[in-house]
Amino acid sequence: MMIEHLADLADPAKTPRLVVKVGSALLVGKDGQPRREWLAALASEIAEARARGQQVIVVSSGAIALGAAKLGLAKGGRGSLADAQASAAVGQIALAGLWADLLGAQGLTAAQLLVTLEDLDDRRRYLNASATISKLLEAGAIPVINENDSVATEEIRFGDNDRLAARAAQAARADAVALLSDVDGLYDRDPREPGATMLPRVQGVTRAIHDMASTGSTSGMGSGGMTSKLQAAEIAGRAGIVLAIINGTHDRPIARAIGNDLGTLFLPRRRDGSLKAWLGGRQRMAGAIVVDDGCAAALMRGGSLLATGITGVEGAFRRGDAVAVRDSAGRALAQGLIEYEASEVEAILGHRSEELAEILGYAPRSAVIHRDQLVLL
Ligand code: GLU
Repeated sequence: MMIEHLADLADPAKTPRLVVKVGSALLVGKDGQPRREWLAALASEIAEARARGQQVIVVSSGAIALGAAKLGLAKGGRGSLADAQASAAVGQIALAGLWADLLGAQGLTAAQLLVTLEDLDDRRRYLNASATISKLLEAGAIPVINENDSVATEEIRFGDNDRLAARAAQAARADAVALLSDVDGLYDRDPREPGATMLPRVQGVTRAIHDMASTGSTSGMGSGGMTSKLQAAEIAGRAGIVLAIINGTHDRPIARAIGNDLGTLFLPRRRDGSLKAWLGGRQRMAGAIVVDDGCAAALMRGGSLLATGITGVEGAFRRGDAVAVRDSAGRALAQGLIEYEASEVEAILGHRSEELAEILGYAPRSAVIHRDQLVLL
């Protein structure tokens, strides 16, 4: 059964597993204190979803904002990485306590998971996280997930919880993600401009859709903005997961969005198997392979990546690493797990399969990236 309308997010048959992402600006008031009443109402919506038979996972920001207020750090704790990490260390305790209290008041048990980008990019750790989330859901708990901000360094941070929510949804094998935002949905231009209209439904995040997103969060508290929400929609979409942007600034935002059919629904174009879904959502690549037009066309038809179509190699990757595949214009076409290390690809690029054994000195693998280990973007 397919999700086609916002109302389907409340249908346990269509959405048995739902991720709800709550941003810092909704969770924390301008005074640095948690917005308890709003959160209590959201917790009641989560309890109602559970009572309908849905499983709910929360992705919650707010650690940095809460911690910065406690420590008295400027710029909401986002003045430097060190400030953010210290703030998160303090704020995360408060955040976890808040969810434990508010879900507890609904008779629900909160479970905390702190993950880094690397935890979810590493296949073994990803599968571990996935198993833990499933176990928690089966046991009736509500996983509350945040980035482990205190240890994740700048280069390896998600930095925004929108992409984290999409990645967590993959790990949780969720059906949909609801991103609670400070706007009703995606508009065709800056929503403050006259004549701006909201898109109720988006099928595939195209260039034109990206152009509609105005950058930067309006609240100045979170780090998301529409750009990261679109990236999240892409990650979710590659795994066949629906993503909705709805307005969180009202009380009981999920019921409001569904009741008024107000929000933007991003519908996935395909549903990859679990390995490909994980691969397509990987955030960091060890290198890149550049291919010619013939090879690009063959990949689009579902073929494996062969040495003969490769024109360039970037990065010092090793066998089994995830690499990006780009065309001659620099467009990202695919990502996949490579069968050779970078120096070997350098040696065999442009050569036909029959020539590889002699160049390498051993029996070559059937492809540089096998189609089963390759995801088109
Ligand atoms: N993980 C950050 C926090 O808890 C928030 C990231 C974001 O702004 O999306 O404060």
